[in-house]
Amino acid sequence: AAAAAVPPEKARERMAELEAEIERWSYEYYVLDAPSVPDAEYDRAWNELEALEARFPKLKSPTSPTLRVGGAVREGFRKVSHKIPMLSIHTETDFSSEGAKAFDERVRHDLGLTESDPPVEYDCELKFDGLALSLRYESGVFVSAATRGDGSVGEDVTENVRTIRSIPLKLSGKYPQVLEVRGECIMHKKDFEALNARQESEGEKLFANPRNAAAGSLRQLDSSITARRTLHFYAYSLGECSEHFADTQSAVLDRFESLGFPVAKMRRVVHGAEALAQFHEDVLRMRGDLPFEIDGVVYKVNSLELEAELGFIAREPRWACAHKYPPEEALTQVLGIDVQV
Ligand code: NAD
Repeated sequence: AAAAAVPPEKARERMAELEAEIERWSYEYYVLDAPSVPDAEYDRAWNELEALEARFPKLKSPTSPTLRVGGAVREGFRKVSHKIPMLSIHTETDFSSEGAKAFDERVRHDLGLTESDPPVEYDCELKFDGLALSLRYESGVFVSAATRGDGSVGEDVTENVRTIRSIPLKLSGKYPQVLEVRGECIMHKKDFEALNARQESEGEKLFANPRNAAAGSLRQLDSSITARRTLHFYAYSLGECSEHFADTQSAVLDRFESLGFPVAKMRRVVHGAEALAQFHEDVLRMRGDLPFEIDGVVYKVNSLELEAELGFIAREPRWACAHKYPPEEALTQVLGIDVQV
């Protein structure tokens, strides 16, 4: 709506203003782990810029933040290249069941399906609000860990990750020679509260939310600081792998579980848009009971063969989308249900 109100002669100026704002906020968020504005404000600016770029494609800057993933590598860390890039996820802007419908329609269109074809199978997952990590195992032994960084180059956080107790350092069972397990590093709500209470009593700065506390704790040059903070890891996708691992996303997660990785219990294989929306609503109802924060759910086409067929556009896979929840105060109005958050 904001983008539609911008007259054409003002578009260039407004787009430059939004780009500069988003760049500054991204730097504070991804590099400094210290955001100065709420996520909803960042998302509003992002959506306005995307809408203006769609309305005035000739004015889109080749360095637009909408083409990039995340942030830069913080000074002091060794850089690690990701052979398979670590991407972002497209966010459906409609918080209602229409968001699920829009994603399903896009997938069906991209796969060339018609109304007479059966519904698509999806894997529905929680969208953890933390920091993406890629863990590398060789011959079943943990050898390195890297952050997403800008998607192609991340930070080497191997020593810090070693201090996270739920991450296996040795795999059990039958494992590929090379295996990269990707997932989210998060801080549970109770550990976040305890950390901020400790920071306050020691006169140190407080963290804005568990996401920033997790990122700030993991991206330390001194791993003894990370060791004093309680972090968790949940696996959700496969990176590099030396052999065929599984046929579906849900089977990838099952196999991760059997190899000893923590995987969220709340996940579901469904067919079609209505079942996606049902998962979105069911998760919202139990969100307050989770030990960690989530900012939505993620839908993924379950067949890895279809995922490969769908591929990527710019920074986002076309086979997945994030369906977020509105900021807390707007929840009851938008979804018309009473929830505990
Ligand atoms: P994103 O967080 O919206 O989505 C991509 C990420 O989701 C992945 O990299 C992964 O880390 C995570 N994820 C969680 N659960 C997952 C699952 N089950 N499967 C796959 N991935 C999963 O994208 P982004 O580019 O990392 O961040 C953008 C968001 O960050 C914005 O929407 C905004 O809310 C926030 N942000 C805020 C500020 C600020 O100043 N407040 C600045 C920059 C970004």
